[in-house]
Amino acid sequence: MITTKLPKVGTTIFTVMSALAQKHNAINLSQGFPDFRVNENLVKEVTKAMNNNFNQYAPMAGFMPLREQIAQKIEKMYGISSNPDTEITVVSGASEGIFAAIAATVRENDEVIIFEPAYDLYVPAIELQGGIVRHISLSAPSFRPDFEQLKRLISPKTRLIIFNTPHNPTGTTWTTEDLETLDSLLEGSRILVISDEVYEHLIFDNQKHQSVLSYPNLKERSFAVFSFGKTFHATGWKVGYVIAPQKLTAELRKIHQYITFSTVTPIQVALAEFLKNEENYIHLADFYQEKRDYLCKLLAQTNFGFTPTQGTYFQLVDYSKISDQKDTDFAIWLTKNIGVASIPISPFYQNENNNSAKILRLCFAKNNETLEKAVEKLSKL
Ligand code: PMP
Ligand code: GLN
Repeated sequence: MITTKLPKVGTTIFTVMSALAQKHNAINLSQGFPDFRVNENLVKEVTKAMNNNFNQYAPMAGFMPLREQIAQKIEKMYGISSNPDTEITVVSGASEGIFAAIAATVRENDEVIIFEPAYDLYVPAIELQGGIVRHISLSAPSFRPDFEQLKRLISPKTRLIIFNTPHNPTGTTWTTEDLETLDSLLEGSRILVISDEVYEHLIFDNQKHQSVLSYPNLKERSFAVFSFGKTFHATGWKVGYVIAPQKLTAELRKIHQYITFSTVTPIQVALAEFLKNEENYIHLADFYQEKRDYLCKLLAQTNFGFTPTQGTYFQLVDYSKISDQKDTDFAIWLTKNIGVASIPISPFYQNENNNSAKILRLCFAKNNETLEKAVEKLSKL
């Protein structure tokens, strides 16, 4: 028989809600993925790479022309140079990058600080390494980080801090001041950082994404994690990358080489071509801001409350005027009875009971028609 290593873990809420949406033929605004197509030219590049026989193992750290293009993109966006040979690793989705960075750094009884609600992979990945999770609560409605609380939580046992901006599920973004405060709090410590930046391009109202890479002292202690899935509407390709200083990268690669060894070759070859033209990604914020604004305009006619999200492709909605059911129950009810699937935010908490907010997450990476149909249903409530 087997004794589970993860007694608190079941099937992820994303899988559960997508399956429920399918079962009840509901409009799926739950799991985060676009319902529109990947750019045709990118698809052509993938086909070309396959026809050109790029079908065998890629180098363990990634196809070098792709790493070179990533270095150029990072330099353009954040004004820093990174060495493709020693500081950039292509991974099989940001998930793998985050998991490998945690496995490379956390030992038995090390403390890891996260901000809750937190993306669901952090806690199990930490606990699998024997690490102890300490969390800072992000409170509705602003979900801003509280650095006084962070200061109190930091102890000699703290090994790692994981944060995520723009933030899933709340859409909150960290400011220059937030990054500077984190930087000064960590000064002189041995604490490492994982900065989950998968939504770097999805940031609205003329804000600029604050990457850990733009802060020299933070950069020295950080794994910055990115995902092409979000940037190129291709979540199913599972290709991402991690930027970290040479010593951290060396440890990350020791794990990466035994999780997957390397990442899907033809897609890396295609991405290396596609990244040469910055037009292929610099307009993403405008594209998604239009979607956010459209969804918010539609939602204004419903009884759901909301503040327009600042980043990501998720919009939180407050249903306290409609129901007092718990979010997990209400999300199921909404899927079965109204025909719209969403994500409750309780599963983003270590202890689901720590969330009493009547809030659901809607994904707006959808055609306008999908959003219209969904809100038409929601407006019945
Ligand atoms: N971090 C966050 C905050 C996410 O929302 C996601 C996406 N689903 C990931 C990491 C994982 O990204 P990927 O699909 O590239 O593994
Ligand atoms: N990151 C996506 C979300 O938040 C889902 C990823 C997954 O299904 N594991 O919806």
